[in-house]
Amino acid sequence: MSATRRLASLALAGLLVGGAEAQDFGAERARMVAEIDATYADTRTLTGFAAMSPRVRAAMAKVERHRLVGSGQQALAYRNHPLPIGHGQTISQPYIVALSTDLIVPEPHMVVLEVGTGSGYQAAVLAEVVKQVYSIELLAPLGREAASRLKEMGYANIEVRIGDGYKGWPEKGPFDAIVVTAAAPTIPPALVEQLKPGGRMVIPVGASGDVQRLLVVTKAADGSVGQREVLPVRFVPLVPGK
Ligand code: SAH
Repeated sequence: MSATRRLASLALAGLLVGGAEAQDFGAERARMVAEIDATYADTRTLTGFAAMSPRVRAAMAKVERHRLVGSGQQALAYRNHPLPIGHGQTISQPYIVALSTDLIVPEPHMVVLEVGTGSGYQAAVLAEVVKQVYSIELLAPLGREAASRLKEMGYANIEVRIGDGYKGWPEKGPFDAIVVTAAAPTIPPALVEQLKPGGRMVIPVGASGDVQRLLVVTKAADGSVGQREVLPVRFVPLVPGK
């Protein structure tokens, strides 16, 4: 085979592979969304949501999860289960990401705090449905990696900070909603303080290594705080910062 022909066939193979991959990820995302639909239906009595809201569904169908999972994990990116992202941390199950987003009842004008950036996937899904996302990550390498990938993906409405999520991000608050993606033994008071009246916080509460309860904490217009238990979950622990 001549060098020119070899190059031409390589280029063609590249094109075909590239095209097939792009298509497969779209199809895989559609399959993932269908699985989340089924899980919503199964858990409707617990969550009160028979189906994803249309905006959250569109976000789940759009966000390129394969660009946020670790290298070598792309093939598993659209399975409806958690995946390791290094440093002993995990990217949450897509169903839990969708549900957490629905539980804050997202609206386009909202400013949202996320605690536990991890891979950046939950932040990306939130960024599709609200105005601005602030996300805090304790582990600097994870936070930096997520911030740079999110920027590459074009998200201009996500700001990532390295810090201790127990303290929230008071300079940017108060927030319309807060999504905590690591389990706390109790609800951190600083986060309740940084919630606007009328705001909602989704947070897994319970001992680490155990099954926790996913709670929706609400702050009424008069400042009184209530909570509703949604369903049992298993998250990595919210580690106390130094
Ligand atoms: N939302 C993430 C999932 C993150 S797993 C995603 O979509 O991929 C929980 C994350 O919380 C981990 O990255 C962990 O390092 C981080 N974390 C643990 N304790 C924390 C703390 N005190 N403050 C901020 N982040 C914390």
